[in-house]
Amino acid sequence: MIQIKTAHEIELMRAAGLVVAGALAAVRAGVAPGVTTGELNAIAEDHIRSAGAIPSFLGYHGFTGCICASINAEIVHGIPASSRVLELGDNISIDCGAILQGWHGDSAITVTVGEPSAEDAALMAATEQSMWAGLARAVVGGRLTDISHAVEESISAHEHDYGIVDHYGGHGIGTEMHQDPHVLNYGRAGRGPKLVPGLALAIEPMVTVGSPDTLELEDGWTVVTKDGSRAAHFEHTVAITPEGPWVLTAEDGGVAGLAPFGITART
Ligand code: MG
Ligand code: MG
Repeated sequence: MIQIKTAHEIELMRAAGLVVAGALAAVRAGVAPGVTTGELNAIAEDHIRSAGAIPSFLGYHGFTGCICASINAEIVHGIPASSRVLELGDNISIDCGAILQGWHGDSAITVTVGEPSAEDAALMAATEQSMWAGLARAVVGGRLTDISHAVEESISAHEHDYGIVDHYGGHGIGTEMHQDPHVLNYGRAGRGPKLVPGLALAIEPMVTVGSPDTLELEDGWTVVTKDGSRAAHFEHTVAITPEGPWVLTAEDGGVAGLAPFGITART
C-alpha cells in the first residue's frame, strides 16, 4: 500500500532526513586510510542517537550495523566491521537510515579514500547525476516510471557502458523504511502510480563500471558485482509537494542538485 503523508508528516520526515544528512556528513569526514568500517558505524550511531533518533538499519532483518558500508566491488548491504580497514584508493558506499518520531529517512553516498582515479570519479559522478535526474522527476502530475526512465537515460548518456543494477532499487518511505512502490532504475516513462503531493520516495541508483550482474556473499547481506567491477550507490529521500520536490535528506533540500535540471526545490 502506498502511504500518502500530510504536509505536517512531511515536515516530520524532513527532520528525520536532516538527521541522516548529518550522520552521513560526519561519516564522510571520518573516511581515511586505516579507519575501519566499524569506526564509521560508531560515528553514524553517535550522531543519530545524539539527535534523539533511532538507527533504522540496526536489527533490520537481523542486520548488525547502523550503516551499510560497501567497498569497491561491493554494491550495497556491506556489514560494517572492526576488521575491515579502509585503504587509499578504496571506494566506499555508505548507506544510512534513521527514525525520528516514527518517521524514516534513508540516504547513501559513495566516496573515495583519498583521491579517486579518473574512472572512479566518472563512475561516482555518473551515479550521483542519475540520482538527481530521477529526483528532478519527482513532481506532481508525473508517473512513477518517469523517475526510473530519467535515471536510466542519464546513465545511458555516457560514452562508457555502465551497468545499472536491477532487482535492487528505490522505494516508498514513511512510517516504514521500505514501502510501496518499488522504484526501478530503468524502464519506460509514463507508467505506474501517479506522483501526488505527500508521496515520499527513496531514489537510489546502483551503477557498475562493468556488468550489472550481482552475487550475494555468504554473509547473507553483501551484494557484489559478479565480474568484480567497481560500483557506486547514491540515494536521497524525496517528498513530492505542490511546491516541487523536497529532497528531505539533502541539507539544502535539493536546491543545488535540482537546479541543473531547471527544477526549483521546495525548501
Ligand atoms: Mg538506503
Ligand atoms: Mg533505500
